[in-house]
Amino acid sequence: MLKAHGYAAYDAKSPLSTFTFERREPGPQDVQIEILYCGVCHTDVHQARDEWGGSVFPMVPGHEIVGRVVKVGSEVTAFKAGDLAGVGCMVDSCRTCPECQEGLEQYCDHTVYTYNSSDQHTGKVTYGGYSNLIVVDQYFVLRISEKLNLAAAAPLLCAGITTYSPLRHWKVSKGQKVGVVGLGGLGHMGVKFAKAFGAHVVLFTTSPGKVEDAKRLGADEVVISKNPDEMKQHALSFDFILNTVAAPHDLDQFLALLKRDGAMCLVGVPDQPHPSPNVGSLIFKRRKLGGSLIGGIPETQEMLDFCAEHGIVSDIEMIAMDRIDEAYDRMVKSDVKYRFVIDMSTLPKD
Ligand code: NAP
Ligand code: ZN
Ligand code: ZN
Repeated sequence: MLKAHGYAAYDAKSPLSTFTFERREPGPQDVQIEILYCGVCHTDVHQARDEWGGSVFPMVPGHEIVGRVVKVGSEVTAFKAGDLAGVGCMVDSCRTCPECQEGLEQYCDHTVYTYNSSDQHTGKVTYGGYSNLIVVDQYFVLRISEKLNLAAAAPLLCAGITTYSPLRHWKVSKGQKVGVVGLGGLGHMGVKFAKAFGAHVVLFTTSPGKVEDAKRLGADEVVISKNPDEMKQHALSFDFILNTVAAPHDLDQFLALLKRDGAMCLVGVPDQPHPSPNVGSLIFKRRKLGGSLIGGIPETQEMLDFCAEHGIVSDIEMIAMDRIDEAYDRMVKSDVKYRFVIDMSTLPKD
């Protein structure tokens, strides 16, 4: 076994603190990665604070992992020591079901998530990226271009793919009017991708202080969603809306902005149900309300390659490991510009 150290939530209320644990020795198919940076997703907050229920403690969160390969198993062909590598939200799946065979491992019934999930290798819970090393089957390890700023590339592993995948699935392209709701970690990547795909992008925010940033990040227009008059001006005009909000809110106000046959995709996962939609918001204009979960491994690699080609990374605020609780509190207050990334060299050694 390999001795690993990290930062863990010991229960839903206490600040995170140091934690020593074991990782498996790399098997023939495994890649051992020294973690250099790890992004902080709002999911980490939901899970560490047990907002969804089912959290297992101690929990090492973190699923936006980037680093360097230090060792590979005998059957690993895609990576060698010294390569850059990334790990997102998944570390395994059944590999045989129709979803896995289509490269949609996120929809497998046996997905093993990077943390707070049952690890088939050890029978224990998985531990995530707030740590110094990780061992992962080569299929679930992503290649990252040396062209990208590595720390700023970390959030691509979750915030990036979670927005790229639905924008691709709903075929967002030039000539379309596309909305992104919420300018946080996911939302700011949604704006960048929708813009890169050629859409006219409108960002909806509850934070008037983010208007200028939203434009700099690629939004053609910014709407303060709490202002009904501003919202009304966009009625019946959108082809697609990507909703990233992490809290329960009125979905009807956004559905009313879709054209006939338009679609809104939810990616935010609030801990309480949304108060709507009203069926009328859907049936009268044959609108669609859908959802999307991260993205499969082939599409995650496609997204990373797209980012390398187009110079797309996240806008980040780097933090030391011991600032994680403050980062969580700021995230809950929508005060994030626009993704916290932990510099893993600040992790206490023991
Ligand atoms: P985040 O960085 O905290 O961003 C969420 C943004 O939503 C906030 O910055 C804020 O933007 C807006 N917001 C917050 N509270 C709001 C409210 N009450 N009403 C309206 N807008 C509000 O979070 P994130 O990391 O992007 O994650 C967002 C959600 O997606 C979380 O629930 C997370 O668990 C989930 N998630 C889902 C997937 C998936 O696969 N589906 C993957 C990753 C994360 P403004 O200040 O601009 O209003
Ligand atoms: Zn995430
Ligand atoms: Zn499967």
